[in-house]
Amino acid sequence: MNTRCQENRVKGIGADEAYWQALSAGELKLPECSACGKTHWPAVWRCGECGSWEHEWKPFKFSGTIFSWARTWHEFGAAKEFGLPYVSVVVEIDNANGRRLLGTIAGNAENIRIGDRVRGEVISVNIEDEVIPALRWHLDDKPSTATKFNSGATL
Ligand SMILES: [Zn+2]
Repeated sequence: MNTRCQENRVKGIGADEAYWQALSAGELKLPECSACGKTHWPAVWRCGECGSWEHEWKPFKFSGTIFSWARTWHEFGAAKEFGLPYVSVVVEIDNANGRRLLGTIAGNAENIRIGDRVRGEVISVNIEDEVIPALRWHLDDKPSTATKFNSGATL
């Protein structure tokens, strides 16, 4: 087992350790530059806008807007908890200066659209015998058009 490789996969360059700690505790935190206020993601050691090394980890709500999505029909190494098919999403987090996070959508989300509102939760997934926290997003309830397609039928 290559422990260093596994650590790098989860922690990257190490600047995002507070993100993983917060996510493990059920919170969402992203780094904000203490000098210029820019929210960064992926996490950085030094602000690319102003050069400051000082960052504060700010809490954010698990809410945002779908920026993009893709439905995966075939297994190729993803967590078993996702099942098949599953929908991966990039979510623009509310009040985070356009920062986006990757996750999956709960359910089949057959009506998913770019711009849909979502709310998130932290789940645990097992990837290559390592349990890590992950983001699962839920589509907010939609008015009439959504109920038209949510008849409870299973595919
Ligand atoms: Zn800055």
